Amino acid sequence: MNTLSHLHPVEQVGHQRNTHHPHQNAAGDGMHRQQILDLYEWAAGICFRHPDQGEIATAHVKTVHPRAGHDEELRACKACILQMEQERWAAASSDGIEYTPGRVGEALP
Ligand SMILES: [Zn+2]
Repeated sequence: MNTLSHLHPVEQVGHQRNTHHPHQNAAGDGMHRQQILDLYEWAAGICFRHPDQGEIATAHVKTVHPRAGHDEELRACKACILQMEQERWAAASSDGIEYTPGRVGEALP
């Protein structure tokens, strides 16, 4: 059932800006990395887990509202988005919840 063997490793999408849609594994089970990444809007920014990498392609995760101070926007790079999506998918499936990717910033139901 696992059709992930033909996917490109995450590292290869790191510096690509173009979005092409290869016709592979579109109906496969599990999570397709590029399909997940396509759910997010990517722009140059600072990954909240990798601030030392400077401006890289990041997606908005959520906006936090600290009690004191200004709102902070959390952005994450592709590797972090995929990792969070996988963690959420694993947590949801172990709870028997049908998981919908694309909203890592929101709480699971
Ligand atoms: Zn990151």
